[in-house]
Amino acid sequence: MARPRPEPAHPAPPGRPRRFPEGADRAQLIERTLAQYRRYLNPGLARLFQFGGVETVEWAAEGCLVWDVHGREYIDCACGPAIFNIGHRHPRVLAAVRDQLDRMPMSVRTMPSAPMAALAERLAEVTPGDLQYSFFCNSGAEANEGAIKLARLATGRPGFVVMQEAFHGKTLGALSATGRAYYRTPFEPLVPGFVHVPFGDAAAVEAAIGRDVAAVMLEPIQGEAGVILPPAGYLRQVREICDRRGVLLIADEIQTGLGRTGRMFCVEHEGVVPDILTLAKALGGGVMPIGAFTARPALWERMKRDPYIHSSTFGGNPLACRAALATLDVLVDERLADRAGPLGEQFLGRLRELQARHPAVVKDVRGRGLMLGIEFTHRDYALMTSAEAGHRGVITFYTLNNPQVIRVAPPLVITPALIHRAADGIEEAVAAAEELLGSVGAATEGGS
Ligand SMILES: *Cc1c(COP(=O)(O)O)cnc(C)c1O
Repeated sequence: MARPRPEPAHPAPPGRPRRFPEGADRAQLIERTLAQYRRYLNPGLARLFQFGGVETVEWAAEGCLVWDVHGREYIDCACGPAIFNIGHRHPRVLAAVRDQLDRMPMSVRTMPSAPMAALAERLAEVTPGDLQYSFFCNSGAEANEGAIKLARLATGRPGFVVMQEAFHGKTLGALSATGRAYYRTPFEPLVPGFVHVPFGDAAAVEAAIGRDVAAVMLEPIQGEAGVILPPAGYLRQVREICDRRGVLLIADEIQTGLGRTGRMFCVEHEGVVPDILTLAKALGGGVMPIGAFTARPALWERMKRDPYIHSSTFGGNPLACRAALATLDVLVDERLADRAGPLGEQFLGRLRELQARHPAVVKDVRGRGLMLGIEFTHRDYALMTSAEAGHRGVITFYTLNNPQVIRVAPPLVITPALIHRAADGIEEAVAAAEELLGSVGAATEGGS
């Protein structure tokens, strides 16, 4: 079937980006960095790098491509995850940040900040329905912390209905909403009041809504759970239940938002307007860290009474807000959400062929737009495929709550030609993993 292919929106720049300086000692830098990981930073991660055969250090990036210190080129299909929706180092974001950097990077807070105010207005314009007031912070977990506090403040109720296997971040409040016991148990007791129900089951949501529930909180497509799509109509059903039962709906669009699934926000596929929407990851254009929660006006009454009831020193700083403003402009002007749909179909088509050729290794491929996942029959296949794909110049990564799934989520500016190159690399990696590991999936019970 002939499908019109979008033109490259942000073509790779002429020439190569900054290479590792001639004469400098690469081997020494790599060795020292890994030793520092082992000794001062994260020994477990150092081991993981070693297992994956990662004998290098990242060096430069541009558009959809990343280079290591050896000058080897990688197609970024992990996006860190999902932070490079507009590609690495988009020139419009760099220009905005440089302009602000040369003038006033951080706010004194005693005078109004024009970039922060402009970003709040811009978010009200691009978010669905009557979402209007925003608060800015520095990460996804913080955005969800703020949303949780706002829901309690606005309703006077402490409880939340959240989803099993959900990922909302790892600070204590966000972790309380996160649905994987592995990350939760060592830190208990967590914030009380969170009830976890199966994702995709609207009746379970309804049954869990008791008298003290402030909000239902969910990801429209679960990312770290392994790219899990709910049944069609689920979001609309949950919205209807929330309305009927008088509780708020919080949509965590930190991974699904900003064009990733083929719409600016994933809830728009079902015409749903949440009461609070949280963002982070791609909002800073892959240049600055920034998070936000945006809410309907009625929820903001208590926030209006005390301007410091919730605050953050660096949240909404001018550098981050200029980056976010430029990012939203790029997403709209380059129609990147519209690209994600057909490009995602192309990529998913290649992954389906891959599944058909390797049924013993690949259990399922799925996704929406350019938020795709490959589920393997065993987690070792996922780990090995990700490592082997890296050796072939394709960056992927397993999902945090489900190591049996690797995420395929390239920048939305990727081209059809690069998708084929990436898919070739992944296919070779799957074949290599199958050969290296043999029938590990058949020998042991599933993954996890
Ligand atoms: C990554 C992520 C978070 C947490 O964001 P951090 O910036 O890592 O704190 C929260 N929710 C979802 C859906 C995410 O994918």
